[in-house]
Amino acid sequence: MAENIILEVVTPEKEVVNEPTQMVMAPGSMGEFGVLNGHTPFMTSLKTGTIRYKDESGNERYVFVSGGFAEALPEKVTVLAESAERRSDIDIERAQAAIERSEKRLSDERSKEKVDFIRARAALERAKQRVVLVGTRV
Ligand code: ATP
Repeated sequence: MAENIILEVVTPEKEVVNEPTQMVMAPGSMGEFGVLNGHTPFMTSLKTGTIRYKDESGNERYVFVSGGFAEALPEKVTVLAESAERRSDIDIERAQAAIERSEKRLSDERSKEKVDFIRARAALERAKQRVVLVGTRV
């Protein structure tokens, strides 16, 4: 059987994951990538999306991730993200409220000059991806 690969996901606030896995899939900015133990080292920036991995026992796990980058070494994947949380820790109501808030910001004609569109769109994308992840059948 193949060796495990350690997955570590950290944000400036907390360590979200640190455990041996059978396989890791992550949303690289150039597309989703998968890593197993022994792969060639590389680094990539990440898109807002979901890291999927198989834990030591083969259970599928899901972690929302926003921004940051991943360093993949043969025996370890380190993800440094701006924010991240496990699927089970996502507060769906909070994410839905964030969607409403950012949509309102983006569509409010009167405050158009004051709105930072890049930030508002990024917040909308984070909230949508959280909702998508919670709604994903697993
Ligand atoms: P909000 O506007 O609701 O704060 P946000 O997208 O701006 O959302 P982030 O900056 O991505 O929030 O994250 C800030 C912190 O809050 C992080 O620790 C992140 O894990 C957590 N977080 C954000 N939204 C949620 C959510 N819906 N459920 C659980 N944790 C969340």
